[in-house]
Formats: sequence, structure tokens, C-alpha cells
Amino acid sequence: MESGVYIITEMVHFGGFFQGDTVGLSVRPLDDPESVRTVTIDDGAWENLRDKHDLAPGMALELEVSHDEVTAASVLGSPDLEALRRAIVERDISPSPNLRAIAYRCNACGLWIAREPVASDGGYGCAICGNPLSAAGRA
Ligand SMILES: [Zn+2]
Repeated sequence: MESGVYIITEMVHFGGFFQGDTVGLSVRPLDDPESVRTVTIDDGAWENLRDKHDLAPGMALELEVSHDEVTAASVLGSPDLEALRRAIVERDISPSPNLRAIAYRCNACGLWIAREPVASDGGYGCAICGNPLSAAGRA
């Protein structure tokens, strides 16, 4: 398994007192719907997750993987803006007024994305796929 962007396909388990503080997820690489695998992520690996119970199928995660273990994880996006807002810790907002957005919608990904956009053609592009964003898509 490699570091990269993954989509949650299924919630497998929530660790509790007996399983340690982890969450088990089935995920697939963003660009490979066939390669579903199950990962266990330690609570300490999350960078911007508020509550693992707010994770849901369809959400996009960035996973850093080392020796088949997830060493860092962050929530990148969700098909549902409210679900995304609930799940993540608010990030530092850029000082640039153009980027004062909690999240923006990328039509190419079909997701609301909570990550600073990248520069694209004099404007801004989706942090996952680089697709140019329209100003109307910000929230
Ligand atoms: Zn995108």
C-alpha cells in the first residue's frame, strides 16, 4: 500500500476499550475503484479529524503509509459539506481574502474539499485533482 489519496468505501470497526483507539476502514485509491483494502488507523495518526464517528463512506483521505502502516492521516473531502464540517478541525485560514473558504466544491472529484487550493491558470484549482475551481463553488 502506498501513500496517497484514498476514498472510504466502508466503515469496518471503531476501536474501543478492547481494540485500542483505532478505526478500521475499507478504502480504495482515488484513481482505482477495484483496489479496495482494509486499513486500521490509530487515533494518534489523524491530523485534522475531530471525531472518528463522523467518518463516512465517500470521504476522501490522505494517508501516509510506511511499511503497510498508516503513519499519518487527514480528511481531505466529502460529498457532503455539513458532514465535512462536522468531521474536521477547522484549519488555519489563509491570510489571502480569496482563500477564505472552509471548503470548496470540485465538480471533477464530486467532493467538498477542505484543503488549500493549488494555483491553476491564474486562479485556483482543486487540491486533489488540480481541476480549476469557479468562485461560485466556495462555501
Ligand atoms: Zn478535484
